Amino acid sequence: MMIEGSMNKYDVFVESISRLGLQENTVAAMRGLFEACFPNVLTEATMAQLAAPVDELRKLRSKSLTFHFTDLTMSKDGQAVVHFIVPSQTKGGSVNYDVYIEFIPPKGTLFSMAQGTMRPAQKIALLKSCNVKVFCTCQDLNWHGMKYNLKHVYDSYLEGYESSEGIPPGGEDIAPNVRDPHRHNRVCKHLIAAFKAVLTNWTSIIKAAKTYHVPPSKAHAISEESVPEPGMEP
Ligand SMILES: [Zn+2]
Repeated sequence: MMIEGSMNKYDVFVESISRLGLQENTVAAMRGLFEACFPNVLTEATMAQLAAPVDELRKLRSKSLTFHFTDLTMSKDGQAVVHFIVPSQTKGGSVNYDVYIEFIPPKGTLFSMAQGTMRPAQKIALLKSCNVKVFCTCQDLNWHGMKYNLKHVYDSYLEGYESSEGIPPGGEDIAPNVRDPHRHNRVCKHLIAAFKAVLTNWTSIIKAAKTYHVPPSKAHAISEESVPEPGMEP
């Protein structure tokens, strides 16, 4: 469910023109104009906001996926990136997909915000409050228009993970005007399942963020930026 206040200007635009009863190709043309004229209205989104518009079939298919929380690393922006490995169901488990979710808290980083003592509910709330940038190595995300939607509807595409196992590097960054004229598909079934797995693996994720040691190669770059105070908002 898209909650009041969580819609960005693009969503409001799409919602408004959908009420006009226009032909699909007119809607697509108007959307293209909006994207060309206002590229700076992109906003970041939480897991719930990215998952909300996903179709029921993908949501259903996500339910049978098994997950392995693999590791937590630091992105080039200094934010925490959680990595899950998902064995493919359709390819007999011979292919693994890699799912990456970068967590960007309202302030600081997951590393700084995970410090100190928090009640379990606060830790879960912290993860839910984060904006996320996401990537999955599956075909669906990279070749069916989601990559475009993540980059051009929301600022939610996690760069730099293209060459992982499972897909040809790159994929397509082309507006899915025929396949998804309303730009509903932002995340694949692996990401839908990963968002749920984040909330069931919160202890491992918060612990990994809390005990993460910055590699020496990154420590210098980060020390030059202002490091936020650890701890939660009261
Ligand atoms: Zn996927």
